[in-house]
Amino acid sequence: MGSGELPAVERRWLERVVRATIKIEAVIEVRPDQDSISSSPSVLSNAEIADRLASLAQLLSSQKENPYKVKAYQRAASRIRNLSESLDEMVRDQEDLTRFAGIGEAIASAVREIVTTGTLGKLEKLRAQVTPAVASITSHPRLDPKRVIRVYKKLGISSVNELRQRLESGEVEKLFGARMAQHIRQGLIDVHAMLLYYADDLSAAIEAFLLGRCAVKRSEAAGDYRRRVDVIEELVFVVESDDFPGVVARMQRYGGRTPLISSGKDHALFSLSSGILLRLQLAGKGDWGFHMVACTGSKFHLKKLTAATGPVRELESGKFKSEAALYRKYGLRYIEPELWEGHDEVARAKAGTLPVLVSAKDIRGDFHAHSMSSDGANSIEDMADAAQERGYDYIGITDHSQSLKIARGVSAEDLWAQIRFIDKVNGKLRGFRILKSSEVDILADGSLDYPDELLKELDYTVCSIHSRFALTREAQTERILRAMDNPYFNILGHATGRLLLKRPGYEIDIERVIAHARQNGCFFEMNSSPDRLDLSADNARSAAAAGVLISISTDSHSTGELDLIRCGIDQARRAGLQKADVLNCRPWEKLQRLFRR
Ligand SMILES: [Zn+2]
Ligand SMILES: [Zn+2]
Repeated sequence: MGSGELPAVERRWLERVVRATIKIEAVIEVRPDQDSISSSPSVLSNAEIADRLASLAQLLSSQKENPYKVKAYQRAASRIRNLSESLDEMVRDQEDLTRFAGIGEAIASAVREIVTTGTLGKLEKLRAQVTPAVASITSHPRLDPKRVIRVYKKLGISSVNELRQRLESGEVEKLFGARMAQHIRQGLIDVHAMLLYYADDLSAAIEAFLLGRCAVKRSEAAGDYRRRVDVIEELVFVVESDDFPGVVARMQRYGGRTPLISSGKDHALFSLSSGILLRLQLAGKGDWGFHMVACTGSKFHLKKLTAATGPVRELESGKFKSEAALYRKYGLRYIEPELWEGHDEVARAKAGTLPVLVSAKDIRGDFHAHSMSSDGANSIEDMADAAQERGYDYIGITDHSQSLKIARGVSAEDLWAQIRFIDKVNGKLRGFRILKSSEVDILADGSLDYPDELLKELDYTVCSIHSRFALTREAQTERILRAMDNPYFNILGHATGRLLLKRPGYEIDIERVIAHARQNGCFFEMNSSPDRLDLSADNARSAAAAGVLISISTDSHSTGELDLIRCGIDQARRAGLQKADVLNCRPWEKLQRLFRR
């Protein structure tokens, strides 16, 4: 790309700017393999195998097949997409595929058939049986055939092209609502991003492949992933190797086939089958620290850093074995990577006033968890046991309130009974407490979904919006402010309702909401669901700056989901939150006072 003479950092900045262009080039023309180690094009990549299984799942679902069977194929497809081993090679070497989780005998034999014949008899048979309209969507395995066929029928269309046109004209949204439009948009458009939560497994698999199969001596994840950015478009690894061309050649065999987009003597860029990019940066012992900083810091961080240290060239030739050594040389304290965003971290590193970021050991309980009383999978006692196993002092049970019928909202009468039940269970517990709570819907007019005399009996409330997302920014903001005026409002659940990579949140004036929360003694939630992470890091930073405490909550719908707290902690750290900023780093005795307004 004509940037070979630029220093590494500037080159990367330039490359970020042209990333969009690179992606387009990648689609049009993938460079031919340059090395004899590279796989031959006849090898099926894991992505291609996964596509066929996903298409089969889609057709089975359109035939109203057993939903468990459909799910099994869907799950297998998404597992296979992230595997580092080439299934094609494994089949040819007659290896056992069932050693992978999610691949049973039926799916293993389907994979063998795909590899040996290039297709799947069952899939072809179904394709021949279904209407041309259904067959047309099998090239977009993420589309739900039942929903799309409904749209086809109503609009009188039968092809994906027509579907795309009706989507762009806004007709789909007008007739079927925003959710349907989102589903179709997602199904039709290639996604070039993934949730951080899913990137964890992928990153670990790539690192293992680099060390085990590419003869890399040392490898460390950098980039947005290391800063724990919630949505990842590119994974970056800094690697040490005596044979970088060999590493680049072997990496192209990851997952069967991973196309190389561009490469130079010390860097390479690949297109992963999951849709995101993979970048490798070669480094040696002497410049490891420099490359880790340069490959991890955001553009804004690097700008502020070089303003304090002098130009990039100087850093690159500085022989820094570690990041700490680089910072030390310029009189800066070590800055945790989550903060490398270009806010005030460089100035604070200089002044020695960096925050001590909140961490897992500081968390004493969870304020947002559902039980079988509404849409959770486990009983109240099971949730309490699971919280105790994690060393917590308390867990709040926040089942949905009566209006949210779709999530089996709890009637007022049943909530009264639940309160008495929890009192009884608490009577038998030592050193642990189940908190009586509810995720109370904020109704369209800003009132809460239970009468005050019932809310009064709860230890605290989480109040959330689950309906009427389309209100204007002004009306939506007013709705939340009115709700906060209720003296039994404590924590605002998932403040904007966003679902990452699925839908933007409803619009609110966050500054007004923060000011009102501060004035009324209300709190925010950092919802830890990997696709919510709501508050965003920026909003959490603003709330904390205004002195509003934030609860890091999982919104668990099963015992296992309590572990998602780590995702919320990551996001809280990106916001610079310290233990003192976080509600559930406090013991219950202190919280009780905070919740009584
Ligand atoms: Zn909710
Ligand atoms: Zn919830």
